[in-house]
Amino acid sequence: MSIIYLNGKFIPDSDACISVLDRGFIFGDGVYEVIPVYNGCLFRLPEHLQRLQNSLDAIRIINPYPTQEWQRILNELIDKNHGGDLSVYLQITRGVAKRDHALPKDIQPTVFAMANPLPPPDKALAQNGIRAITGDDYRWVNCHIKAISLLPNVLLRQQAIDAGASETILLRNGEATEGAASNLFIVENQVLVTPPKGPFLLPGITRDLILELAAQNHIACEEAAISELRLRKADEIWLTSSTKEILPVTYLDNQPVGGAKPGPMWHTLVDLYQSFKKSFSR
Ligand code: PMP
Repeated sequence: MSIIYLNGKFIPDSDACISVLDRGFIFGDGVYEVIPVYNGCLFRLPEHLQRLQNSLDAIRIINPYPTQEWQRILNELIDKNHGGDLSVYLQITRGVAKRDHALPKDIQPTVFAMANPLPPPDKALAQNGIRAITGDDYRWVNCHIKAISLLPNVLLRQQAIDAGASETILLRNGEATEGAASNLFIVENQVLVTPPKGPFLLPGITRDLILELAAQNHIACEEAAISELRLRKADEIWLTSSTKEILPVTYLDNQPVGGAKPGPMWHTLVDLYQSFKKSFSR
């Protein structure tokens, strides 16, 4: 049993109830965030709260709480779930209203947060990496909004699982955008490349941190479109997210990437990322 936060109350997850008329349930009308917690400390909280604000603004929901209140709620949630390494999921939907597409007036958003154990990255990764496939990016053109309506992402991830892989790298108009639930990096002649931000990908917090760490350590990096050809010829391919950190792709569509082993740049960035994480504590 875990303790969750729902609309102002901390309660056991088994006691939590949401109306069937909640617009999150009916329309997928809401946004979310996933924030890692290391040793009880929220990682990159200001960045996550800023992205949450951007998502709320984009779908016209007023942020129910100021920053300090979010901090208080999330820290209390962490304490009630015994701290340590956690993944905090928070979701805001437009709220409960009679079913009608048009935005209802004067309703309260539904606010939900939970904290789940966050296992450390799998050690076998450094040996083997993961397998990925490519797939058609048939999502909408507002992928920068962290919307809860994730049906395309769900189906695209399952496409990878069905093919014996872990993630699908999405191709739109001949260019790789991101993974079904991750951002994309390639390494080309010692240069780190990731697609620029825009409507076709989520502005990942991990992505930004990797760019920051690379810049601080004089590693050449560039934000540029990655054509399908460039992707297939890359020396290294990585997929990044807050909960999985930096995943090295060693097979793409059953073809080896680089030497079919996690590459040297991956090892460098993972070390930098782990040191950065360790420098955090409450
Ligand atoms: N793109 C998509 C589509 C995602 O779902 C995620 C993870 N939620 C990411 C990128 C990575 O974002 P972050 O580094 O903020 O977890």
